[in-house]
Amino acid sequence: MTKYFDMKNEIKEEEIKEAGKMIKNGELVIFPTETVYGIGANGLNSNAVRNIFIAKGRAQDNPLILHISDIDMIDDIATDINEIERKIIDIFFPGPLTIILKKKDIVPSVVSGELDTVGIRMPSNKIANTLIKFAGVPIAAPSANISGKPSGTTLNDIKEEFDNKVSCMIDGGDTLIGVESTVIRVMDNKIRILRPGKITIDDFKFYGFEVELDNNIFKEVSKNDRVLSPGMKYRHYAPQKECLLVYSEDITKLVNLVNKYEKDKKVLVVCKENKTKYFKNRLSMGNTLEEITHNIFHILREVDKTNFDLVIIEGVKKEGLGIAIMNRLIRACSHNYIEIK
Ligand code: AMP
Ligand code: MG
Repeated sequence: MTKYFDMKNEIKEEEIKEAGKMIKNGELVIFPTETVYGIGANGLNSNAVRNIFIAKGRAQDNPLILHISDIDMIDDIATDINEIERKIIDIFFPGPLTIILKKKDIVPSVVSGELDTVGIRMPSNKIANTLIKFAGVPIAAPSANISGKPSGTTLNDIKEEFDNKVSCMIDGGDTLIGVESTVIRVMDNKIRILRPGKITIDDFKFYGFEVELDNNIFKEVSKNDRVLSPGMKYRHYAPQKECLLVYSEDITKLVNLVNKYEKDKKVLVVCKENKTKYFKNRLSMGNTLEEITHNIFHILREVDKTNFDLVIIEGVKKEGLGIAIMNRLIRACSHNYIEIK
């Protein structure tokens, strides 16, 4: 039986302590972070970590991020850390940033997908941070969703898919940010963004770092391609329904396209709040990039509860936080994406 700890309104230390013990003992716990919900296990225990892969149906070569509660924990699990990496950690930890470092032998290869590196993040969410402290070990935790599905940003969306597969679920309400952490690796003294997130190119530039986006962020990569971030290879975030992502600066072009499809399909439009007036069947994603980021995974799950044939999603400009949003939406739509000039 899965235990359910409700901390939507207040944090309960005794219950987090109990969940921390479960982690320490090799059991699985679902917990909130500031990005998305995670499904966590003792990151130094191979058997426990294997159970995450089974619960999610995740490919073995798709590595997990180790979550820490204190910067001092980094030197237990990673080595050869250079000055730039130290500076990044000092500035951005705790927060929605994962840094790829050379791993120490103590990190099981099942965590790193057989790579010699490990992704490390220190969440700022109080429940997550306290859980890691009580567990006393780094927590390996991917997003809490069955592989391929949208990540969970509210416990209600994922409760059923993990019921009886984990020892405990901690409900911390809606996650603050809504997309997974920015994943980076420092290469030739430059930051390479392997997965865009809340921490953007401009945030790194602000502190004087050289930074570039990995080439594959918007590309379709196949299972046999060699990529720096294995997560890029897999179907991700996708609803069951057929989805089409459309970006245009001209609303009449989007309206015309929707009208065209509506001739022979029942179409649902997912668009910005200020565009809802143009469409009969629509769901609002919010107006600002922050609102869209916060809402998007929940909306991608909602569309599957409707009876439309096609979901047309309005894209955003690939700029700032818009890069993270478009990276997720392009995958959610299985690269079914058009730009209309
Ligand atoms: P998730 O845990 O679902 O948020 O996915 C974590 C993602 O981080 C993976 O899919 C990888 O793409 C990336 N990642 C984690 N560890 C590494 C690593 N050692 N090297 C490169 N990418 C990594
Ligand atoms: Mg994931």
